Amino acid sequence: MSKQGISRRAFFTTTATAVGVTAAAGAILGACGGKGSEDGPSCEPSGLSLADEKTRTMNKYVAVSTTEGKHCANCQLFKPGADPNACGNCTVIKGIVSPKGYCQLWAEKKA
Ligand code: SF4
Repeated sequence: MSKQGISRRAFFTTTATAVGVTAAAGAILGACGGKGSEDGPSCEPSGLSLADEKTRTMNKYVAVSTTEGKHCANCQLFKPGADPNACGNCTVIKGIVSPKGYCQLWAEKKA
C-alpha cells in the first residue's frame, strides 16, 4: 500500500469521525434544550423540585402549543433565550420552556 493510500484512508477515517461527532453533538443539544425539531426545541428541564414539577403539570404546560395564536414566545411571562428558537424561561413555570410551548397561565404580551 502506498503512502498516499494510507493518507487517503486516514483522511476518510478522520472525516467520518468528525461527521459522527457533529451528529452526536446535535442530538445531545436537542435533548438538553438546544435546538430540536421543527416543533421547536425540546426544552425538557432536569433537576426540578417536586413543587416546581407540580406547578408545571398543574398549569398544563406543553412543549408545543395546540392553542391557536397562543404560545410562550408571545406570552407576557416569557423570558426569551439567546435566539427566537432557543429555550427560554418563564416567570411562573420553573425550568426551561419552549418558545412554542403553552400553559394555562398564558397572558398576552404587551407591546
Ligand atoms: S406562563 Fe405559560 S405560556 Fe406563558 S411563558 Fe410561562 S409557560 Fe409559557
